[in-house]
Amino acid sequence: MKLSLIVPCYNEQQALPIFYKEVTAVMGAMDCEYELLLINDGSRDGTLELMRSLAQQDERVVYLSFSRNFGKEAAMYAGFCNATGDYVAVMDADMQDPPSLLPKMLEILATGDYDSVAACRADRAGEPPVRSWFSKQFYRLINAISDTDIVSGARDFRLMRREMVDAIVAMCEYNRFSKGIFGWVGFRTYWLPFENVERVAGETKWSFWRLFKYAIDGIINFSQAPLSFASWFGIGMTAFAFFMLCFIVLRKLIFGDPVAGWASTICVIVFIGGLQMFFLGVIGQYLAKTYLETKRRPHYIVSETNGGDVKKIR
Ligand code: UDP
Ligand code: MG
Repeated sequence: MKLSLIVPCYNEQQALPIFYKEVTAVMGAMDCEYELLLINDGSRDGTLELMRSLAQQDERVVYLSFSRNFGKEAAMYAGFCNATGDYVAVMDADMQDPPSLLPKMLEILATGDYDSVAACRADRAGEPPVRSWFSKQFYRLINAISDTDIVSGARDFRLMRREMVDAIVAMCEYNRFSKGIFGWVGFRTYWLPFENVERVAGETKWSFWRLFKYAIDGIINFSQAPLSFASWFGIGMTAFAFFMLCFIVLRKLIFGDPVAGWASTICVIVFIGGLQMFFLGVIGQYLAKTYLETKRRPHYIVSETNGGDVKKIR
């Protein structure tokens, strides 16, 4: 039995040595064959040099270095495409996904009752309250409008069986939202709660704005609700306008009461114009995704690796 550990790294020269030390200690104690797939996502610091030297000391280290920053989703995909283990785990380099959970996760999978074990945060301690609030609202919204189950507080930290990894690799969409993809492929998942930990070194790459855009991406990738909402809203508005028209005509015929109010008319026109623009924008978002998808560009480009049969462009 072999385990593959996928670690996306972007500017992690401070955290990576700590992570490596901890993970080798945990894996050593477990006495099981494994490989460490380090993905360098176009770091601008010494991460690549560090990976080279780790690979030299330790033959279980395989590193893939991207030609530029492709994002964590692409890095995880590269890991899935190149993992050779029977079990595959994704984890962050910053120790926020504690390697000490791995033995427990393996134990749960070994029972055969589950296909994947996913870590989820037991609480959101240490996070700014505004961010927690937005995050909660996002999960409520996306679960209401999407068929895919997306669990709040879920991390990307997971241990999966080969079958599930193959399913994820088969989902070759360009716009990737892993939390949705993990849910979409199905399989039996065990949720393992753990205490939230702060990152050991370096800093987070997720600003509020980047998270916000990620949330919008998640909604657009896993729900058509905004599109159907636009049509239902349009139908509602049309019906309302029709009844108002009948009302005004009847009022004129019965009471001879002419329509007053130029200002109110303009307001209504501008309001509806705004709504039309907004929904056009919604359609535009989907169209843009479709456009990117149809170009079939690769997810990532590897410019350097020590692995023999690594898929360099995929
Ligand atoms: N990461 C990456 N590419 C990016 C951004 C982040 O590979 O463009 C990696 C990063 O090195 C880390 C993981 O993704 O191992 C999670 O990033 P981070 O800790 O910044 O996110 P947070 O834990 O704050 O959500
Ligand atoms: Mg982190």
